[in-house]
Amino acid sequence: MEKSAGFSQTANRAAKRQEGRLGWRAALAKTSVAVFAAMLALAGCTSVAEPDRGHAVGTEGSAAPLPSAEAGASSQTAKPTASPSPLPPAETRVSLAAVGDVLIHGSIYRDALRRGGGGSYDFKPMFAEVASMLEEPDVTFANSESIIGGTALGLSDYPRFNSPHEVGDALKAAGVDIVSTANNHTMDRGEAAVLSALEYWDKIGVCAAGSAAEAGGRSSCTLERRGMTMTFLAYTYGTNGIAVPAGKEHLVNLIDRDRISSDIRAARSKADAVIVSLHFGNEYQTMPNEEQKSLAKLAVDSGAHVVLGHHAHVLQPTEWLPTPDGGQALVVYSLGNFLAAQEAAKFERRLGGILSLELVRRLGPDGRLTVTVEKPRFVPTYIEFSAWKNFRIVPFTKETKLEGGISAAAKYEEYRKHMTQWMPELAYGLPER
Ligand SMILES: [Zn+2]
Repeated sequence: MEKSAGFSQTANRAAKRQEGRLGWRAALAKTSVAVFAAMLALAGCTSVAEPDRGHAVGTEGSAAPLPSAEAGASSQTAKPTASPSPLPPAETRVSLAAVGDVLIHGSIYRDALRRGGGGSYDFKPMFAEVASMLEEPDVTFANSESIIGGTALGLSDYPRFNSPHEVGDALKAAGVDIVSTANNHTMDRGEAAVLSALEYWDKIGVCAAGSAAEAGGRSSCTLERRGMTMTFLAYTYGTNGIAVPAGKEHLVNLIDRDRISSDIRAARSKADAVIVSLHFGNEYQTMPNEEQKSLAKLAVDSGAHVVLGHHAHVLQPTEWLPTPDGGQALVVYSLGNFLAAQEAAKFERRLGGILSLELVRRLGPDGRLTVTVEKPRFVPTYIEFSAWKNFRIVPFTKETKLEGGISAAAKYEEYRKHMTQWMPELAYGLPER
């Protein structure tokens, strides 16, 4: 059961970390600080500690190009300095995976307590079968739907959740790097739970997007892998009617079209890629509504490369949307339930999945950097349990044993058609090894 928490996981994680440190940018920072300092000074930046990729691309005799096709940063067209600047690699590939709702009902934390011997909560066995698929990609995202406020605040179930910190430990151990904390359950247990959760995510080295601990604080995540930077932004449609206290709006990012658009544009001016998490849609609807479509389009029009949707608790399809620079962005409208204990008899609420893709940054002949989304794959997952015990997320295949006489082979095909209906090239299911 716990095999994937063993040696290979540790080795993978070490590799994952190291790759993040050894980008061309890191190497450049060591050797070309003076060049950067001069260029940054020209460009009006204030820090040389983290040279901005957009400023580092210039070659002798040409203006330093923009970091992306998006215009508007005239300060970046600084004249090059006399000494030649090294170029970033012609091509950089970073793999990304994303899963949907991690919603810890009472039966799940009681199961974890049982598995922990009654004295502690052990959620790790629940992720063991899928951990390698979360660990392998360079960056992995999950929606932490029930806030992990910890046991000191008292655990709670539907309708106002509070989950143990150990959920975070299990996600971290499985390979999750980034979580969204912006969803309709963020305010379930008030400010104390949000702050406790943010502190814990921070402590274990998982970046939380969608909430800030204080006004003006960070509510997005920016990571670097192989010298490529990615910013994650997260928003929710609401908080189940629980008012966000006045002056505490930083605790949860609510969907606001103007804000989303300006946040994405600002993120694009600094990062290579922007990924937007949206908690939206109608629960238990397998197709996106007009509002979801319109918000996804807004995000892509503003510069997002990937939109990760969740909240419906069932799977909704993927789609390419055209980007302003003539490319295409990937949207998944709902990633389903990754771990939850909703009505056991409703098969579709036990279905989630792991979306994976590659973000590919290329240096064009004009010195311009572009990022494309390639190799999308969706591996459906199934929440296995019986009598509300032994929860386990497993890859959903034609052979998965389902309750109630449901044919796994038929469902597997049904969901292949469902998820790929607008994106026939989406690879579906486990890759053949
Ligand atoms: Zn939700």
